[in-house]
Amino acid sequence: MKDDPVHGLRLKSRAVPLEELIANGGLERAIREGQLTLHYQPKVEMRSGRTVGLEALLRWRHHLHGMISPEHFIPVAERHGRIHTITRWVLEAVIRQCASWRTEGVLVPVAVNLSGLDLAERELPDYIEALLKRWDVPSLFIELEITETAAIGDHQICDEVLSQLSRLGITVAIDDFGTGYSSLQRLKQLPFTTIKIDKSFISDTARGSQEMVFVDTITQLGHRLGMKVVAEGVECGESWALLAAAGCDMGQGYHISRPLPGEMMSRWLRNNVPLSCCATSG
Ligand code: C2E
Ligand code: CA
Ligand code: CA
Repeated sequence: MKDDPVHGLRLKSRAVPLEELIANGGLERAIREGQLTLHYQPKVEMRSGRTVGLEALLRWRHHLHGMISPEHFIPVAERHGRIHTITRWVLEAVIRQCASWRTEGVLVPVAVNLSGLDLAERELPDYIEALLKRWDVPSLFIELEITETAAIGDHQICDEVLSQLSRLGITVAIDDFGTGYSSLQRLKQLPFTTIKIDKSFISDTARGSQEMVFVDTITQLGHRLGMKVVAEGVECGESWALLAAAGCDMGQGYHISRPLPGEMMSRWLRNNVPLSCCATSG
């Protein structure tokens, strides 16, 4: 039976509303009981085939309800004021994982997805800085991804938080690009280094459809604004070739690897050299 994001998780015999689960502290319990984990998906430079980064994707395996998709529980966590707890847990887990990979010689930056609400939290940059210090991880190993819709709001705090993060040397990508309505003005004002073209535009590229027109246009726009362009959701070699020809800098998707747990990603990285993909290990 399929999950229903509106009415909750429809389990074998009864409906358990996700809203209720989260309102009653289900996510905090999930953290305490180790039900949350991270999977990692590689981001590969199209020109060289090198893995230049990973994206951390949250997974919740509930002891009764099984896997709950982040697409379902993140918006509910936002509505119930639980997102900061989640984001902080993810940031700490990712930075700890980066520290551990560094001791193995795996020097790869990891991107964390932020909620738009996180950008209204003035303490976020200090919190990240303190974590990086505690785990002795240089800031270039952490990247942040913010969805286009979350980033276009004209909030003073959001702009300050983004500028402070960028001063720390943390790069910020604009995620799901093409699904919101960014003004070009706003895109230029904010310190984004990367555009991630939403997978809804990528999935049909192999069929030579109109989607390729969007990809071409967004790629040119990104480059003109001095940004790198990532295609997400690349599922086959044909799409990969078309996107590379369109000038996308990086690709991410099942064609390269599905998101994998940390241990499996370590193995994947070892089998897919080069491991050192940061300009400096310092
Ligand atoms: P996203 O940031 O756009 O992440 C990409 C989604 O596409 C992921 O879904 C990933 O597993 C999936 N994907 C990767 N390659 C392919 C492909 O080739 N084809 C297809 N069809 N899909 C692919 P996932 O892991 O279910 O995450 C869904 C969304 O949940 C993410 O979209 C992101 O917005 C949110 N999310 C995930 N983890 C976190 C987190 O730690 N914090 C926050 N705030 N949001 C998160
Ligand atoms: Ca993302
Ligand atoms: Ca997306």
